Amino acid sequence: MGLDEDSLDYHSQEPHGKIEISTTKPTNTQRDLSLAYSPGVAAPCMEIYDNPDDAYTYTAKGNMVGVVSNGSAVLGLGDIGAQASKPVMEGKGVLFKRFADIDVFDIELDQEDPEDIIRTVTAMEPTFGGINLEDISAPECFAIEEGLRESMSIPVFHDDQHGTAIISGAALVNAVDLAGKEMGDLRVTFSGAGASAIATANFYISLGVDPDNITMCDSSGILTQQRAENGELNEYNREFARDIEEGSLADALEDADVFVGLSVADVADQDMIRSMNENPIVFAMANPDPEIGYEEAKTARDDTVIMATGRSDYPNQVNNVLGFPFIFRGALDVRASEINEEMKVAAARALAELAREDVPDAVVKAYGDQPLQYGSEYIIPKPVDPRVLFEVTPAVAEAAVESGAARSDIDVEAYTEELEA
Ligand code: NAP
Ligand code: MG
Repeated sequence: MGLDEDSLDYHSQEPHGKIEISTTKPTNTQRDLSLAYSPGVAAPCMEIYDNPDDAYTYTAKGNMVGVVSNGSAVLGLGDIGAQASKPVMEGKGVLFKRFADIDVFDIELDQEDPEDIIRTVTAMEPTFGGINLEDISAPECFAIEEGLRESMSIPVFHDDQHGTAIISGAALVNAVDLAGKEMGDLRVTFSGAGASAIATANFYISLGVDPDNITMCDSSGILTQQRAENGELNEYNREFARDIEEGSLADALEDADVFVGLSVADVADQDMIRSMNENPIVFAMANPDPEIGYEEAKTARDDTVIMATGRSDYPNQVNNVLGFPFIFRGALDVRASEINEEMKVAAARALAELAREDVPDAVVKAYGDQPLQYGSEYIIPKPVDPRVLFEVTPAVAEAAVESGAARSDIDVEAYTEELEA
């Protein structure tokens, strides 16, 4: 059977879809039921009424994430609407559960106006310990996330923006190390000026890249001041507009150290890769097909091209599942009020460090015995590596405590041991 047919079969097996609710307390006796519901349930209600933080003690709030979408930018499928996006949001819930034992309600909203979405999601704060925004189109996604971060005191994280930024940021830290470059000197060229490109550029600045060395291109070429003045850019990507006449992606890649592709397939060629600085770093992450193919980029020149893509069939897959489950796990476990820059940087650095360590045999086996050792073909951990939970999660929790985002303190050593158990 083909993949499509297999998938329809997988999803339509009884019970339909991929998730269900299960109970976590005994429900056998009349006594159990009068604890679970009326009249016994009044006691935890009143505790929470007196102290709202007790919701983390007496309800599932602290392990519950809302995966929220309006279906306006779903995978590579585009604006398919809220209802059709539900399989994706259920799937996101599956990944949260599988990788970090976090429970998800998937919330598909039939709304387009950012103000409506902000109002709706804000009103759901009592239910959740965190909100993962998913597959919402740019530029509305920026206003929605910003508005919700302001109005809510639980973490709000748009994974399509920050997930990509963090995982590719980890890859960048290691690629820079391997290529013998300095973060502060890098010349970085982006193909794409949308949701993921803007977030990634901002995150690379947090990692030490000089904003003056970033050049961003969209389908009309380099983002320039002139184009900003002509109203061609939005308030988010105009920050990256350069004070130059005009130029193409090919112009922007000349002498660049890093190419970051977050656009569409096949916009780069071997000549462009050849025009880059020595030992170039090429992260071609358009899905399902990259801006330039893996082999095409690698064989364009004689020195080492450090290459990453979004694909699982080549080395260095930038896969968001390396981030969001563990970032939320760490944030929830310290009752964080937000996922801030410090927590994101901690996640990226923990991933980068993990890639420098020896890989357990079980992980090597899962990847068909390809040699997994720190180097240009292995700059980020593999998604199924169980150590990601033990490394990234405590790093995020610790950063939350140190940056003041945590509402409960944590003994990092004891917490790490607890995760490993
Ligand atoms: P988006 O917000 O829609 O942005 C797409 C951007 O690509 C826009 O700035 C668009 O510019 C630009 N673009 C379109 N055609 C182009 C061309 N021929 N040359 C240069 N730029 C062009 O989308 P997004 O969410 O950021 O995602 C962008 C891509 O990154 C997608 O392919 C997505 O699959 C991929 N992605 C991969 C990962 C991953 O590997 N982990 C994660 C996130 C996203 P115009 O406005 O001029 O059209
Ligand atoms: Mg997504």
